[in-house]
Amino acid sequence: MRILVVEDEPVLAAQLAEALRAADYAVDVAHNGIDAHHAGASGEYDAVILDLGLPQLDGLSVLKRWRAAGRAMPVLILTARDNWHEKVGGIDAGADDYLTKPFHVEELLARLRALIRRSGGHASAELVCGPLVLDTRSSRVSVDGRAVALTSHEYRVLAFLMHHRNQIVSRSALIEHIYAQDFDRDSNTVEVFIARLRKKLPAGLIETARGLGYRIVCPQ
Ligand code: CA
Repeated sequence: MRILVVEDEPVLAAQLAEALRAADYAVDVAHNGIDAHHAGASGEYDAVILDLGLPQLDGLSVLKRWRAAGRAMPVLILTARDNWHEKVGGIDAGADDYLTKPFHVEELLARLRALIRRSGGHASAELVCGPLVLDTRSSRVSVDGRAVALTSHEYRVLAFLMHHRNQIVSRSALIEHIYAQDFDRDSNTVEVFIARLRKKLPAGLIETARGLGYRIVCPQ
């Protein structure tokens, strides 16, 4: 899962990016409205954290432009304290949730998880596929109750496939959603991650759709 953080306060932006990376997200950071608009208009993000008070182009205008262009990713806005106008304006402009500064990072992470799972049509924080359980709160994976140790990138691949289980996910979509923008992307590494996951998970769980991508098929 890949997140765009839009925040012009450098310390807060760095704290958010660090907390998100620690939670196994790929993270890009934009520090002004112009860069943010470009990133959200061209990159594939599973969610965006958007501060409204930004230099060059304010957050509300950024959000309106994305929505007008059909960009539908979940957006959580950060608003100033006691500014209910901002919240109303943000939600009307297409924000999915908001947090008032200052906030606890744990609450931000919980709201983000909820946004991502709702956008995938999932109600629970635990994604289940037969014997496989992926807990989006702890980034832990288990099979038949036994913990499976995954690297951060293996977890990102599996989490994206599990959020889209029973659907074919293309290799290019996986690349877009597991790497940050500045990461040296090599499409072959996706195959490596899939091969490693297959060794650690029940046989046949991750199917290859030849020429199309991969799919996790769950028993009904
Ligand atoms: Ca700001």
